[in-house]
Amino acid sequence: MPTIANDTPLAQQVAADARKRIALTGRPFPKPAATRVLTVANQKGGVGKTTTTVNVAAALAQAGLDVLVIDIDPQGNASTALGIEHHAEVPSIYDVLVEGETLAEVVQQCPDVPHLACAPATIDLAGAEIELVSMVARETRLQKAITAYLAQRRAAGQPVPDYIFIDCPPSLGLLTVNAFVAADEVFIPIQCEYYALEGLSQLLKNIELIRSHLNPGLHVSTILLTMFDGRTRLSAQVADEVREHFPAQVLRSSVPRSVRISEAPSHGQTVMTYDPNSSGALSYLEAASELADRGAARHDDEKTREVTR
Ligand code: ADP
Ligand code: MG
Repeated sequence: MPTIANDTPLAQQVAADARKRIALTGRPFPKPAATRVLTVANQKGGVGKTTTTVNVAAALAQAGLDVLVIDIDPQGNASTALGIEHHAEVPSIYDVLVEGETLAEVVQQCPDVPHLACAPATIDLAGAEIELVSMVARETRLQKAITAYLAQRRAAGQPVPDYIFIDCPPSLGLLTVNAFVAADEVFIPIQCEYYALEGLSQLLKNIELIRSHLNPGLHVSTILLTMFDGRTRLSAQVADEVREHFPAQVLRSSVPRSVRISEAPSHGQTVMTYDPNSSGALSYLEAASELADRGAARHDDEKTREVTR
């Protein structure tokens, strides 16, 4: 009869997952004092921006917080993963940015996760980058829409989101600029691969430009290592290097490469509902918990922080 030794990588993974499940499942996360608006950005494509956005958002919503995802990538991958309709006729973030509609007119409830809503992106958004160029206040349109949405909900006695995540396209064009102007925090997913840090300096330079010209409060608050492969030395090296450069920003939890994570979107789901006990879902739950705890701790530090946006 073969036995599984406790020190095999598989046994260690199973034990680590069990610890995370026990520590985190069903635990309510602290509510931030004011709505936290995070832009999930990295101008590289395929690094896990959308996956991180939808799964962290779902984890926070499952832990009882009110969450809104704003999809500003014309590909609409976040809308797909959240099971949100986004064919060409659906009112979308395009109508908000270009036609001046309100966010309330386009926001849809996520079918699988209570407290999670999404402003979808449709293919129309592909033209917005160009249409915005000639518009008045072209950099602040998303910010104004969010501010108006929060004010409108407050006035109507409706709950305002605790978290707003903006899922960016892989470019630094006007859509991403709108996201940077609308947010307080930048959340950067970094793929644990060679070249991970390349291009990061360009991103940081752009954030600095936005900070000095358009949004003085913007800062990189959070970095998450994604697609970590524990079997390769490269993943560990990249992770060490990122942690060394950004000790305060990198979350302790990292997200492993996981088939379940990559399968979930084809079922119109996040991994948090598709396979909540998988390593990938538990890692995102852990990352979300850390993000929430850090927000609460920061508020305790800065009692003077503005309570309403
Ligand atoms: P981005 O939004 O930065 O372009 P995505 O989140 O769409 O990146 O991820 C790119 C691809 O990698 C997608 O097919 C996604 O399903 C897959 N992926 C993301 N994170 C993981 C992971 N931890 N394990 C396995 N596949 C992943
Ligand atoms: Mg994406």
